[in-house]
Formats: sequence, structure tokens, C-alpha cells
Amino acid sequence: MYASLFRHVLFPLYETRLRGRETLTRLQELERSQWRSEADLRELSFRRVVEAIRYAEQHVPLYRRRFADHGVRARDVQSPDDLLRFPVLTKSDIRKHGKELIAEGFHGKMYQSGTGGSTGEPIQFSYDHRTYESRIAAAMRADGWAGASPGERELHIWSRATTPETPLRKAKRRAHETILRKRMICAWELGQDQLADLCDTIEDFQPRVIISYPTPLYHLSRYALEKGRRLPSPRGIVTSAERLFQHHREVIERAFDAKIFDRYGCREVMLIASECERHEGKHLNLENVHVEIVRSGRHAGAGEPGEVILTDLNCRSMPLIRYKNEDVATLAPKPCSCGRGMPMLSSVEGRMLDMIVGPEGQLLAGEFFPHLLKDYRDVARFQVHQDKSRAITIKLMPNEGLAAETPARVERSMREFLGERASIKVEVVDDIPLTKGGKYRLTVSEVPVDLEREATA
Ligand SMILES: [Zn+2]
Repeated sequence: MYASLFRHVLFPLYETRLRGRETLTRLQELERSQWRSEADLRELSFRRVVEAIRYAEQHVPLYRRRFADHGVRARDVQSPDDLLRFPVLTKSDIRKHGKELIAEGFHGKMYQSGTGGSTGEPIQFSYDHRTYESRIAAAMRADGWAGASPGERELHIWSRATTPETPLRKAKRRAHETILRKRMICAWELGQDQLADLCDTIEDFQPRVIISYPTPLYHLSRYALEKGRRLPSPRGIVTSAERLFQHHREVIERAFDAKIFDRYGCREVMLIASECERHEGKHLNLENVHVEIVRSGRHAGAGEPGEVILTDLNCRSMPLIRYKNEDVATLAPKPCSCGRGMPMLSSVEGRMLDMIVGPEGQLLAGEFFPHLLKDYRDVARFQVHQDKSRAITIKLMPNEGLAAETPARVERSMREFLGERASIKVEVVDDIPLTKGGKYRLTVSEVPVDLEREATA
């Protein structure tokens, strides 16, 4: 009853009347466009990318200058391959030339956001109201695939550190959470007491959908399974913001007896791709973000990992055109059986920075380290660091006492992949700090990765 009242009356009133947002209109458009054919949607995305380039050329000083330097013009773009001649925007460009990326004559409310750059230096970017609405709508569409419906109970679990709230902010947040029926939980500490409390909260709240970073949910699920605690099954579990590993998925799905709907995004453009109810890969959010996967200076074919190059199709205040977010991903060879037209990513290999390079140029990416360490019950967390000389340090944080032979065993299994020449050191540490955004970084590498030269191991 509440859900129905919420969907038809309270939420439209809140979004459309009180806050003057077009979010629901955008959502309706996206709900319709997802069923268009792949060819139609690719055409739409391409048309919008050309519009974004044309706008940038006319209104944004940095692009105007760079396009001229490269001898490229929006009006010369005839096919998606012509985009390859346009310069790529890097994190360092944003840091150095942020002011030149703001569109001339743009008036209107701007939202500020930021993220860590490749060397850990933060970058700042801003987006406008229209972009904000489109991003919320895209997230709502993907929430819907996972069984969410506005006004039904949603539990959000994050590991982000929260700054102290003023009483007014706290009251506002509580009111917001009550009206939207969302419960936000910060799972910063993952000790036994906190995990027991979190199980209680979930039992009590009975969420329809859970939205979480994979790591805290994985720890919670492992705890629940070990203690034999039965958790109520939500309709779906949405994971995002960190890479989800296969063994995470298996453990979480078993503990909740529910399916995971994993997502891929970044703070600069938000949602990039998300799983639907068929779980065959991730559908690109290509009505909002134009995605290129580039390898050796050309667009990669299906099954070939390449660099992710993004163009935000809505943002006119500070347009991001052919922005390289430093991730590597792979397009799927075939469409999803659900019938939605958005093409699919088969995998997201993750940040190029997080890949470890062996002495023979072997690239250890993605699943490798969690897979290697998942059966060590005495390791609570780990982090792999590679410095510029390619020396590797593996930090192990024990889980109530570390078996004496564990460090040597870990080193031996790494050598099977990297060989005897690799410099590998294992350190036992008390703590592994999270990133500023509250994420677990499993690998940190200072070695630049060249996808064209190195073979993916
Ligand atoms: Zn699908």
C-alpha cells in the first residue's frame, strides 16, 4: 500500500514538484529506449556523441584548441571510427586545465564532484542539473532490473568513512531516508560484533533490495554462513563501486539466496554498465554515456580487452569528451537474451593501475590475487604493491593469528605465475588502510601498463 502510494503520489510530488526535476520523465524515456534495437541505440548514441563534440568545439576553450591542434572538426565525423582521430582527455588534463573545460556562458546550478587521479592527486569536475537527473534516472532503471521499486525498503551498505553530521543534517537525512524508505549503513568496521549487528538489522528491516560495496557484503555473508545465520532473501542485490570477484558472488548469493546484479561505473560519469535479470554481462548505459573500448589505436573487437574511453552525452557545463578513466574492459560477443538493445560488456578487468607486471611482461589482472588468496582463512585482508623497479610486496593482514607457513606459501604460489626472477616480498601488517573513498584497493602498481606490448596473463 505504501509502495503504491509512494510510486504514484509521493515520489512524483517530491521529485517533480518540490525539486523541479525531470528525473521521472528521463526514467520513462529510458524504460522505453532499452527495448529499441541495438542498431537504433548505437545510432542514437553516435548522434549524441557528435552533438556533444559540436557543442564542445563551440563553447569549451580546451576542446576548441585541442581539436584545432589535431586538425579535427565535429562536422567531419561520419562514422564511429572517425572519433579515434579526436584527442583523449586524461585525468592529468582535468587537473591542469579544469577551468578551460567549463563551457563559456554556462549559467545554472553546478554540482561539484571529485575523484583520485592516477597518482592519487584528486581531480575536480562539475556537472549540471540536467546531467544529474539523467544519472539518477539511469540508476533507477538499473535498480528496477534488480527488483527495486521506489518506496520499497532498500538497504544501502557502504564502507565510506562519514564525516560527523550536524544535528540539522542528521534530521534531514533521517527524514529523507524515512520518506524514501532507504536505510543507509556504514560498514566501516567489519569485526564480529559489527557483523552480528548488521545481520540483526537486515533481519529486522527485511529489505527488498540491498545495494552495497562487494567487500563488506562478502565479509557479512561469510560470517552469516559460518554462524549458520539465515538472512532474509531480498529480490536482488546490487553491487557496485568495487570490483566483484567470482568467489564474492558465490558466497553472497549463497548467504542471501538471492541474485547479484553487478554494476560498473565511475564518479566522473556515474553508471556505465549494469547487469539485467539474465546475468549474461553488463548492458552499457549508452543513452547517457558513449563508450569506446580502444586497443592499439583502433576500436577493440568483442572479446579483446581495451582501454575504456567515455563521452558523457548530457553534460554541457563541463563536458567530458573521450575521457580515459584508466580502466580496461571487454565487449561481449553477443547480445543479451533479455532482448534489451544495449550492447554488453563481458568483463571489466579494472584499473590499468591495478595490474601487476611480471619480469617477462606477464600481466596479472583482475581475478588473480583474490583467487590466489581466497582459501587462506588466516588472511583477513591483503594488498599487493609493485614499485617502479617491478619489485612486489604482498601485505597480509592476519585474521586472528597467521599460520607460520602462510607467507612462504603465498610467495611460492605467486612465483608459479611470475617466475623465479620476480622480486617478491611478503609482509605481515596490522592494518591495510582503505582509500579516501572507503574502497579496498587490492593492488597498487607504479609500473605503467602498455596493453599493446604486454600479454594478458
Ligand atoms: Zn539483458
